[in-house]
Amino acid sequence: MKVVLAKNAGFCGGVKRAVKLANENAGYGVCCLGDLVHNDFVVNELKSKGVKVVESIEGIKDSKVIIRSHGVHKSIRDKIKENNNEIIDCVCKKVSIIYDIVAENYKKGYNVIIIGNKDHPEVIGINSYCNDSALIVEDAKDLENLPEGKLIVVSQTTNNEENFKKLINLIKDISKDEVLVYNTICSATKNRQNSALELSKEVDVMIVLGGKKSSNTKKLFEVSKLNCKNVYLIESIKDFDYNILKKFNKIGITAGASTPDSVIKEAVSSMENFGNNEMMEAIESSFKRVRRGEVVEGEVLFVNE
Ligand code: SF4
Repeated sequence: MKVVLAKNAGFCGGVKRAVKLANENAGYGVCCLGDLVHNDFVVNELKSKGVKVVESIEGIKDSKVIIRSHGVHKSIRDKIKENNNEIIDCVCKKVSIIYDIVAENYKKGYNVIIIGNKDHPEVIGINSYCNDSALIVEDAKDLENLPEGKLIVVSQTTNNEENFKKLINLIKDISKDEVLVYNTICSATKNRQNSALELSKEVDVMIVLGGKKSSNTKKLFEVSKLNCKNVYLIESIKDFDYNILKKFNKIGITAGASTPDSVIKEAVSSMENFGNNEMMEAIESSFKRVRRGEVVEGEVLFVNE
């Protein structure tokens, strides 16, 4: 049995930073505005350290409030401060850069277009940096409302590249004025999808590790399905009947951006010989190499035949 880990899998930089900051500040009297990430392991660990998950900041005073990596509407941030709370700001730098782009160009008179999901908190947050004036575009139908005048277009960080490009071309065809485009899609999402796509071409089965509510994990599942008939999305290897894998020779593993290393390691380890120290060391060292970016995409990390 060969086990191959996708070159890019697991925590992205933004989630890694958010989890680190949240853990450093965890304790009683600390709350997080929604689940920090779409992963029960991470959320439950923080809960066990006293971090309370709240859906609204109503009535939260004199506390520490964690803002998640994809951010919130500016008014919520202001309200948190008004109530004498301290903000633990976990907003990803790649998201706050979009805030700056939008705010600056809005001031210069551009109409803001956000390509993304209307209900996603990241999009709602970005829109608040142009006084909620943006046209949010999910598909071509939304372009019927494209404003006149000069436009600036940004994307939700987790958007699909092809969809973004397709909509940009349509916007350029329709608009008679200047169209300033910022491709703000995050490479972490793209890299994970590309790695899963490549790996799924050469394995018999793909295991996608991640939370059921995580949209980037679901995307990895869909992408893997394009090339591989046997794809399983699981939160943890504990939920999985390991016997299913016995009939396959080559197993690919990938994981969403909010899946901790511990979950990946556990899955890989359970496919190997438990208690075999040499193998465990190989797993450790492979993980270090993956993190340092030394692993060539598709490289076989473990062989257990
Ligand atoms: Fe930041 Fe990209 Fe991770 Fe989102 S996916 S938290 S934008 S690094």
